[in-house]
Amino acid sequence: MHTIRQHNAFVDNTANLEFVKEQISAAAQRSGRGPDDVSLVAVSKAFKAATIMPILAAGQRVFGENRVQEAVDKWVPLRAKYPEIRLHLIGSLQSNKVSDAMSLFDVIETVDRPKLADAIARLRDRIGYCPDLLVQVNTGEEPQKAGVWPGKADAFIDRCRTEFALPVRGLMCIPPLDEEPSLHFGLLREIALRNNLGSLSMGMSADYEIAIAFGATHVRVGTAIFGRR
Ligand SMILES: *Cc1c(COP(=O)(O)O)cnc(C)c1O
Repeated sequence: MHTIRQHNAFVDNTANLEFVKEQISAAAQRSGRGPDDVSLVAVSKAFKAATIMPILAAGQRVFGENRVQEAVDKWVPLRAKYPEIRLHLIGSLQSNKVSDAMSLFDVIETVDRPKLADAIARLRDRIGYCPDLLVQVNTGEEPQKAGVWPGKADAFIDRCRTEFALPVRGLMCIPPLDEEPSLHFGLLREIALRNNLGSLSMGMSADYEIAIAFGATHVRVGTAIFGRR
């Protein structure tokens, strides 16, 4: 007798998606905003196309990936079928991957150093196109983590705008695992306000409702939709 094997690829996570969308709506309403004021970035990193397909079929169109090559392999074919997909790069970007990243992603959330800003600007000048950009802020000042430190954020944002003429739309942060996230969300919002930036990408599976209360315009949710990686 053959054993019946469970294929993870056929797990349907659309109920999770609907639940997360309801929570987002409710949290947005509680803070006096509409459900469309908060965009759900479904983080599909480490999941295969077969797992993503039901989520696409359920209408989700905004996705986040943290590795350029993985994203290219996975999303070029999926985009042929769903051209209106919007992809966010949420992992750190090496200067030598800028070209691949700019031809795939609609938003790069992880701009955090002059060398990278310069590489993006040079390519933009050459191809005449630039994705929307967010500056990643290392709100917890964690040495092992990417992102510009809070005390250097104003100067870096200014440099992106003036020296590189880059379309910086907002900020992104990943709070330290063991700290109260609201302190970090509040700090990110403060930096955005004083720099006139409208987009705030903050909040993940464990804390997206708190992030919305602090003004998140984008929440990046992986585990709560797709399950454990
Ligand atoms: C993986 C990842 C997420 C999603 O985290 P979950 O806890 O699975 O929701 C969000 N943001 C970034 C930058 C990530 O790398």
